[in-house]
Amino acid sequence: MPELPEVETVRAGLELLLAGARVRHARALRKDLRTAIPDLAGLAGVGITAVRRRAKYLLLDTTGPSILNHLGMTGKWREGAEVRAHDHVELHLLDGRRIVFNDARRFGLFELCRADGGHDALDGLGPEPLGDAFDGRVLRAAARRHRRSALKAMIMDQRVVVGVGNIYASEACFRAGIRPGLAAGRVGGARLDRLVTEIRGVLAEAIAKGGSTIGDYRQVNGLSGLFQNQFSVYGREGEACRACGSRIRQSVIGGRSSFWCPRCQR
Ligand SMILES: [Zn+2]
Repeated sequence: MPELPEVETVRAGLELLLAGARVRHARALRKDLRTAIPDLAGLAGVGITAVRRRAKYLLLDTTGPSILNHLGMTGKWREGAEVRAHDHVELHLLDGRRIVFNDARRFGLFELCRADGGHDALDGLGPEPLGDAFDGRVLRAAARRHRRSALKAMIMDQRVVVGVGNIYASEACFRAGIRPGLAAGRVGGARLDRLVTEIRGVLAEAIAKGGSTIGDYRQVNGLSGLFQNQFSVYGREGEACRACGSRIRQSVIGGRSSFWCPRCQR
C-alpha cells in the first residue's frame, strides 16, 4: 500500500501534469470505488490550480470543487489515450490530454470536497510529519495519553501524526534505536525528540528516492520507487542487521508486522 512518500511522489507528478490545465469534462466509468463516486458534472470547464497532499490523500484544487483522491492499495494516475482494464475515472482536458485514475483492487477513493474545501475524511487528522507543527512536544503529549500503547502503534495513529505507515514506522524506530513494541509511556522525552527527527529524515529520504515500490506502486511517469533497496529492517526478518550483524526480528504490533534489531533497538 502506498505510504506518504509514495503519495507525495504521485502528487508531484500529478502537479506537473495538471496544474494550470482546464478540464473539458470528467467522467466516471463505474459507480463506485471504496465509496460511491459522486456526479462529476460540476468539473466541466474548471481550471486545476494545484495538487496538494494531506496525510495520504491527494487534493486536486480547481476553480470549482476540489477533488479528494486516495490511492488505496493499487490506485495509479497516468496520462494517455489508451484505455486499460481498471481505468475508473477520466479527466479530459481542454488541450486534448486524457488523465486517468486506474485502480485494480478499488480500495481507492474519488470524491469531491465540501464547498468550504473540507471533507469528513480530513477532519480530526493530526499534524503532517514534515510540517512545522510536528515536533517532540506532539509525541510527548501523545505518549502521556497513550502510555500503554506500543510506541510504533502510537506513531501510526493518524490522530497523533499523519502518514507514518508500517514501513516507515519500522524504519524510524530502528534509526532512533527504540524497540517498536515498547510502551509509549516508558520512552523518555529525549528519545521521543530523536524519533521525531528520524521520522522526518526517513520520509524525506524516501521522497527523494521516488518512494518505495512493493507490489505495484508506480510513479505517475510509470517508474518504480527506489527506497525499498535501502530498508534497514522492513521485510528483512532473519537477515543480518547492517549495523551490528544480529538477525532482524519480526513481531506483530497493533496487528501489523513489525521488524526490529534486538541489539540496536532498546
Ligand atoms: Zn543491529
